[in-house]
Amino acid sequence: MSDAQQTPLLSLQQISKSFGPRPDWIERLGQKLNLLAPAPRVHALDQASVDIFKGEVVGLVGESGCGKSTLGRIAAGLYGADEGRILWKGEDLSHLTPEQRRQRRLGIQMIFQDPYASLNPRLRVRDLIGEAPVVHGLVKAAERHDFVARMLDQVGLDPSMADRYPHQFSGGQRARIGIARALAVNPEFLICDESVAALDVSIQAQVLNLFIKLRHELNLTYLFISHDLSVVQHVSDRVVIMYLGRIVESAPVDELFFHANHPYTQALLAEAPSLKVEKKRYLAIKGEIPSPLDPPSGCHFHPRCPHAGPRCKAEAPALKEVAPGHIAACHLNDLQGVEIA
Ligand code: SF4
Repeated sequence: MSDAQQTPLLSLQQISKSFGPRPDWIERLGQKLNLLAPAPRVHALDQASVDIFKGEVVGLVGESGCGKSTLGRIAAGLYGADEGRILWKGEDLSHLTPEQRRQRRLGIQMIFQDPYASLNPRLRVRDLIGEAPVVHGLVKAAERHDFVARMLDQVGLDPSMADRYPHQFSGGQRARIGIARALAVNPEFLICDESVAALDVSIQAQVLNLFIKLRHELNLTYLFISHDLSVVQHVSDRVVIMYLGRIVESAPVDELFFHANHPYTQALLAEAPSLKVEKKRYLAIKGEIPSPLDPPSGCHFHPRCPHAGPRCKAEAPALKEVAPGHIAACHLNDLQGVEIA
């Protein structure tokens, strides 16, 4: 394997992120003097690491509030991380100048869940798609018209629609405009955050097929964020499962769907209505995801896990390889002869 193949295209290493109000100077002074307790913070990500290689489609799955969208936004440069490193082709982005970082970031584009909300309603499609590549010097202003026509054609829209506004399109067409806009700056890596969740099932299938077609035509790499396991199974090479800010399992797609190791992954699969798995092997998930304001101690999943023991409450399990290319974070993997499923 060459170095280029071994080096991840994007490497998110030990990323932590929390959200909360910024204390003003009085609160900071009060906290320093131990007169005031720090305001509660939402712990969105806790040491989350994912490597994504050139040409791969990685599905990132978890319940609402697990931190998957935050991880995607950090990867896209929309949020900063509190801790951790982001490497693009082996290069630590924090070591670059702002201009170099901006250039590298063009290679990573994000496609959002709600195409209507993410498209400026006052701009025509030709401006939505054509403005950024002209600003970044990728396309000459005189070539903009033809460029926009090519981009629309590439995502399956009629180039004659370039003068319309977003409200004049259907949901599926707006999703295609969002994809064309992301592709306009010639990215290598697309982060799709619930990008088909708002669409009808038949339109979802068309847009998913477009993603697959573009992957092969443009040699794209995807981080595909979704709560929908059937969507992820359809498009992904590898699946990463998150629970309350932590990565709990990662495996090639077939390995994960047929040999899930982590009790949380098994519970998610048991809940997916359309998957052809032997349900008797799995245990249904119980309860709600705990508040990220105050995550449970040890293994965050222990209040809902049917296998939880005293060690689970006290100690966070580390990710360990359970099969080639398959890692999971569960203390049961340390016990010989114990079958989880
Ligand atoms: Fe369940 Fe314990 Fe494994 Fe966590 S570490 S998933 S609580 S058995």
